[in-house]
Amino acid sequence: MIRRTVEDNNSTGSESDYSKYGARISGWISWFLSSKGNEYFCEVEDDYILDRFNLTGLNTEVQHYSQALDLITDNLDDEILDEHRGALDVQARLLYGLIHARWIVTARGLAKMLEKYKRADFGRCPRVLCQSQPLLPVGLTDIPYEKSVKLYCGRCEDIYSPKSSRHGSIDGAYFGTSFPHLLFLVYPTLIPPKSGPIDFVPLRTSGDAESSRRNRRNREEQETPREIVQEGLSTVAVALKAERYRPRIFGFQVNEIAKLQRWQEAVRDRQVARLEMLDEHGLL
Ligand SMILES: [Zn+2]
Repeated sequence: MIRRTVEDNNSTGSESDYSKYGARISGWISWFLSSKGNEYFCEVEDDYILDRFNLTGLNTEVQHYSQALDLITDNLDDEILDEHRGALDVQARLLYGLIHARWIVTARGLAKMLEKYKRADFGRCPRVLCQSQPLLPVGLTDIPYEKSVKLYCGRCEDIYSPKSSRHGSIDGAYFGTSFPHLLFLVYPTLIPPKSGPIDFVPLRTSGDAESSRRNRRNREEQETPREIVQEGLSTVAVALKAERYRPRIFGFQVNEIAKLQRWQEAVRDRQVARLEMLDEHGLL
């Protein structure tokens, strides 16, 4: 009977309107996760939130911290909730987001996000040669209100903006800069192969490595950009302007990728020097 009343109440309210009746039954977190646009988030377990050690320092980042915490753990008095609903809801979202960023780099949090990754909940890489590789959310900074969330492709090791504007406006700090790289560090068998179809448990043999190298060479030849030199921009300027994404775990560059990037940059620098020399001699 109570349940029916709740459902009736919810059906008359707008979708994003948090109902205090709904909260009692399903909880703030369930409501938040089921709201449109929040599909990238996973459920943070109660035990994690209720252990105050895990929330160290967040009281300085969130206004009305204790009330926001009471709201997401469904312990807030209805009177306070009615009075400050708008302001508290914003702070509760911020608090949940910041807890979420910490939770998804724990063993249990990684496992939950892995399920979402396997279902391709975060979308797929738009690059044709990545063959619809599922993506993982990543932040470009761990500080809230600075950069929106991006999507990382483990195959081309590049980042993309979410297709939907609802997802595009999510704060990147709610996922953090380390998450996708830590996931591949903890589950190395999930690192996607650089070529061939998607396989969640890729077989790595020396033959595979050789064919992967061969394929990469072919791909590089196919991909040689022809119309990259725009009018008024020299090749050198274009080469130097290209920004690169640098995967990091807790601020440190990921070792293998860092090594590869140093090599790629040395090659680029040599090519730039060559172009400059040709330019000086009027050969370009
Ligand atoms: Zn890709």
